[in-house]
Amino acid sequence: MAGLITRFAPSPTGPLHLGHAFSALIAWDLAQASGGTFLLRIEDIDTARCKPEWEAAIFDDLRWLGLDWPEPVMRQSDRAAAHAQALARLSAMGLTYRCICTRSDIRAALSAPQEGAPAHGPDGPVYPGTCRQAGHSDSDAAVRLDMAAAMARVGGLVSFHEAGPIYPGRHVFDTAQMVGQVGDIVLARRDIGSSYHLAVVVDDAVQGVSLVPRGADLFAATAIHVLLQRLLDLPVPDYHHHRLIRDAAGQRLAKRDDARALSLFRAQGLAVDDIRALVGPGSGGVAAGLPAQHPAR
Ligand code: GLU
Repeated sequence: MAGLITRFAPSPTGPLHLGHAFSALIAWDLAQASGGTFLLRIEDIDTARCKPEWEAAIFDDLRWLGLDWPEPVMRQSDRAAAHAQALARLSAMGLTYRCICTRSDIRAALSAPQEGAPAHGPDGPVYPGTCRQAGHSDSDAAVRLDMAAAMARVGGLVSFHEAGPIYPGRHVFDTAQMVGQVGDIVLARRDIGSSYHLAVVVDDAVQGVSLVPRGADLFAATAIHVLLQRLLDLPVPDYHHHRLIRDAAGQRLAKRDDARALSLFRAQGLAVDDIRALVGPGSGGVAAGLPAQHPAR
């Protein structure tokens, strides 16, 4: 059995904290235990928010945790052509449309009295579809996926195998869920030309990632990723969503929460075993069970 290819894919928008260490250690441990490979990928398509100093800090922190990875690492900002090609393919399939709505247009449309309470999807409020039939051609407009058409194209169902300990098993999503709870997601932002969802799917595939460990906050996004993989004929990896590391008040850690920054623990003289002890069980990953082998769909 070939070893797993796992990855840790941070965005250099702030300091890594304990939650990132947890994720990276799980990815590392699962790759090591299977005789596989741990990859680091820098997700820096949002150039307005990403900073070279945060990228340098990611490398330092991960090396301090004792991790290594094949070089050179993939940087998503170098991958614009591949992302554009995937977008063009989805557009050629008739599954996309241009959207000129601003955030406040969307808020206003959703607060119309007849709409009721807007559903919240992985990217915020579910888009009300204002531009779906409008036929905009502005080249600087955002590009959205027509979710109903996309789900029809894959036969109305998408599924993935969850290999992590908190939601184990196969998860299936149908058209009603994807249209009602996720909606017409953005595939390319007007300022970026891609989006997290599109870039992550294209790049996981080109790197041959077979297991994606990441926080439980991205579980809902995984249904989107599997749909895009199916539409683009890419292999569907297994996923391992792990619990989120929370602060004493029960809030999940955020990058702005500098108090939990790894660099501070490091400055206080802690070692990687102390970090493993702080984040608790699961950073051994292996104890939680290696994923079963499932054929990619
Ligand atoms: N780049 C994303 C982040 O830093 C992670 C994406 C993923 O693991 O799929 O939150």
